[in-house]
Amino acid sequence: MRLLVVEDDKDLNRQLCSALEDAGYVVDRAFDGEEGHFLGETEPYDAVILDMGLPQRDGASILNAWREAGRSMPVLILTARDRWSDKVNAFDSGADDYVTKPFHMEEVLARVRALLRRATGHASSDLVCGPLVVDTRNGRVTINGNPVRLTSHEYRLIAYLIHHQGRVISRSEIIEHLYDQDFDRDSNTIEVFVGRLRKKLGMDLIETVRGLGYRLDVPEAS
Ligand code: CA
Repeated sequence: MRLLVVEDDKDLNRQLCSALEDAGYVVDRAFDGEEGHFLGETEPYDAVILDMGLPQRDGASILNAWREAGRSMPVLILTARDRWSDKVNAFDSGADDYVTKPFHMEEVLARVRALLRRATGHASSDLVCGPLVVDTRNGRVTINGNPVRLTSHEYRLIAYLIHHQGRVISRSEIIEHLYDQDFDRDSNTIEVFVGRLRKKLGMDLIETVRGLGYRLDVPEAS
């Protein structure tokens, strides 16, 4: 899952990004309203963390512009202001959730998990596909209850596929949602990652849909 953090406080931006990266997300960062607006309008994020008070352009204006442009990714806003009217304005601008500063990082991580699972139609933070369970709270992956050890790349891939299970995911979608802007997009590494992941899962959960991409699904009974 690929996230955008828009926060002008450099320390806070760094803390948010490193906590999110440790939790298995790919994170792009912006430090002012113009840059944040541009990235959110042009890149396909799974969720955005948006500070309300930003230089050049404030959070509410950015959010309004994204929603008017049809950008529907979940947005968690950060607000230093504890006035109820700011929260109402943020929700009316298209926010999905908010956290008031100062906050505990664990709360932000939990809210991001909730936004991502709601946006993809899941009710629990344990994502299940047949014998496969991905616990998004701690990044643990099991098959029939047995732990599977994955690299961070492999974890990102299985987490994206299981959030979108049953749907065919193209290679370009995987690249857009699993890598940051600097990734070499002509690379064929996705095939290699899928191959390794299949081997580690030890069963046929990831189907190749010829010419279209990959689909994670419960294997059909034979
Ligand atoms: Ca700020």
